[in-house]
Amino acid sequence: MRLADDRFMVTPTAMSKADVVAEGLAVADGAGQVAEGALRPPSEFALHLGAYSVRPDIRAVVHAHPPYATALACTGRGIKTFLAEAVVSLGPEVPVTAFALPYGDEGAAPIRDLMPRFDALLLCQHGVITVGPSVELALLRMELVEHMARIQTLAVPHGGVKPLPDEILPGLIAKRRKAGLGLAAERTPDPTSSEAERHESPQLSESPVPASGGASEPQWTPAGPAPARDAWSGGASEATCGVVYGSSGAGSQRSATEGTSNAELTAEVEHAIKRHLS
Ligand SMILES: [Zn+2]
Repeated sequence: MRLADDRFMVTPTAMSKADVVAEGLAVADGAGQVAEGALRPPSEFALHLGAYSVRPDIRAVVHAHPPYATALACTGRGIKTFLAEAVVSLGPEVPVTAFALPYGDEGAAPIRDLMPRFDALLLCQHGVITVGPSVELALLRMELVEHMARIQTLAVPHGGVKPLPDEILPGLIAKRRKAGLGLAAERTPDPTSSEAERHESPQLSESPVPASGGASEPQWTPAGPAPARDAWSGGASEATCGVVYGSSGAGSQRSATEGTSNAELTAEVEHAIKRHLS
């Protein structure tokens, strides 16, 4: 979690996640060095920093190795979002990055290429990384990626999942933008959208971080070439390992920590830990 421009709270190295409590989190700087206390960040913290560096709008990064999503990442296949609600939370695609060892700047390079355009990525032959304006939303996105990966795998013996009809995607993406759940460059707050609308989906439980205004209205573009039918997935073929995509930039953004106290951030971490470890 980003505490300030050069301060990050992260689960410490050499500790089971089941034993982590809010007071037992490491605090590191933007170079990955211990900034407060004695607890050290994990060796994969460079991945987190890579995401923070290209997404000034986000406040939280979650990295994990859930089995179904990691299995897909190990095949080099990403996910074309096939559940309508998931498009609202995650966008139309969860691509897979190019392969890189998950350490240091080199390991973060594939993330920097893709993260400006996506809130969740499969890490080739490694795991998953998700981001969000809060720990809760980043965790929800992680759970949703694993949920879809599991369904996609379970559907294989039945012919594979079907892609969503092309014609409904623009509406779902507009809904995502209206709810403030899109990428920073997509956030164009609509003064007519009510709080109730923002909470109509289970994935919309977090308050969005509004853009600073003036953001353009980008159109979603797929991570790779136009998809082709794929018997394995029953739907579109996905991005594959080894392909490095261009970055489109994140547009106008405000600081993710602006106007938020450390106490509020810590309370959010405590809430997320309780929810996910209980
Ligand atoms: Zn990892």
